[in-house]
Amino acid sequence: MKLTKLQHDKLTKHLAEKWKAPVSCAVCGKNDWNVSDGLYELREFHGGSMVIGGSALIPVSPVTCNNCGNTVLINPLIAGIELKGGNNE
Ligand SMILES: [Zn+2]
Repeated sequence: MKLTKLQHDKLTKHLAEKWKAPVSCAVCGKNDWNVSDGLYELREFHGGSMVIGGSALIPVSPVTCNNCGNTVLINPLIAGIELKGGNNE
């Protein structure tokens, strides 16, 4: 699912407020981040089997270092983003 512009703006604002110095990448030291407009999910591992409805999903918004690819996953629910109304295309 893609975040709407409003959701993405709210996520970017949340990061600006919460992400305290140093904001440089823990891997390469650069400060060149991309806040994805894609919304993904983490699910519990069940030995390689797909289990539908077996456990809670954790929504994540990736923030990726443009220099080395290090990726930080932010939970948009904790960021206060209402997830209904995103774009599923
Ligand atoms: Zn990096």
